[in-house]
Amino acid sequence: MAEQSGPQRLRYRTLVVLQPTTFCNIDCSYCYLTERGSSNRMSPQVQRAAFERVLSSELVQDPVVFLWHLGEPLSVPPRFYEEAFATAAEVAQQHGRSISHGFQTNATLVNEAWVELIRRHRVKVGVSIDGPAFIHDRVRVDRKGRGTHADVMRGVRLLQQAGIGFGAISVLTDFTMDYPEQYYDFFVEAGIDDIGFNIDEVEGGNTTSSFGPQASTQRYERFLERLLDRAAHHHGAVKIREIWTNLAALAFGGEEPVNNTNMPMRIINIDRRGDVTTFCPELVTSGITMGNVLVDRIDEMLSNPVFQRVSDEIATGVQLCRQTCQYWRFCGGGSPSNKFFEHGRFDVAETRTCQVHKKATVDVLLRHLERRTGLGPGA
Ligand code: SF4
Ligand code: SF4
Repeated sequence: MAEQSGPQRLRYRTLVVLQPTTFCNIDCSYCYLTERGSSNRMSPQVQRAAFERVLSSELVQDPVVFLWHLGEPLSVPPRFYEEAFATAAEVAQQHGRSISHGFQTNATLVNEAWVELIRRHRVKVGVSIDGPAFIHDRVRVDRKGRGTHADVMRGVRLLQQAGIGFGAISVLTDFTMDYPEQYYDFFVEAGIDDIGFNIDEVEGGNTTSSFGPQASTQRYERFLERLLDRAAHHHGAVKIREIWTNLAALAFGGEEPVNNTNMPMRIINIDRRGDVTTFCPELVTSGITMGNVLVDRIDEMLSNPVFQRVSDEIATGVQLCRQTCQYWRFCGGGSPSNKFFEHGRFDVAETRTCQVHKKATVDVLLRHLERRTGLGPGA
């Protein structure tokens, strides 16, 4: 069969990250977003242009998921989404597209009205929570420095009582490293059975990370070893994204791993002004812009000079990863935003974040499997 060329090769399922507002009602110490004290909103004109540009694009593959994120999505009123979802549905029908919506929320503002909207529109939900209160409340605080755990759990219970499933995103800091058992037990007891880790990392407005020196990597490895033992104690009751994705790479992955954050147009980010980037969503705080939905078509992004320069530089960095890194099959070249915010450029390989989040995780997982199965290099 002849090799496909041009846009046809670039067709895939697309995640579109939309920024309803830069505002957030809380003030986490590691937040990478800037302008989160400023109350602004994506205008109806930008919304309509965003839906039109995305859903008319030949580069976008159904089903299209619109994830409302990059600020607290529930800090704008429900009617904002009633109108936005109606516009999206109208545009999707015009273009014969299948769409869905998602919120990545801190859950502190969830109430009956939000539950009703989420249920009626079948919105997918991700909740940010960092474990039990004594861990969470050190970093996820309001503007007066007060912990937000009780408010998050009130929102979590409302979602659970309504039968709305959700996944949790949890940021690990150096402090978390001393409490793996309490951390895992919290999720079991809270009935939250699907979590993904993020690492406290240098990114955007967060210019320092608690994962600094090598000692922190060793502490992370010890944390993960104990966490895996705790997971075994609970028969793996909580699905941990970092474990399952690496197991899947081990079992099914090949030499060409897929990493959507460094592949163009897999993820499209549209900020509240309509400025567009592709690659990882964290790039919205980089100052890089590859177009604006009010004046540019998504398909034109491929010939935008900023896109071409960034894309070439990212490809060079990914190629360097492929040539030099023994964790390549688990990672696929890492996240461009980590490279940019740590090194000021994309054409590099290793980052502090990948040393911890990828390399140390894989090392610990392989050792854990060896220990439990007796199978290993020497078996
Ligand atoms: S909830 Fe999210 S957007 Fe808000 S301060 Fe925390 S990390 Fe930032
Ligand atoms: S682990 Fe780091 S160096 Fe290795 S492929 Fe991933 S980003 Fe590149």
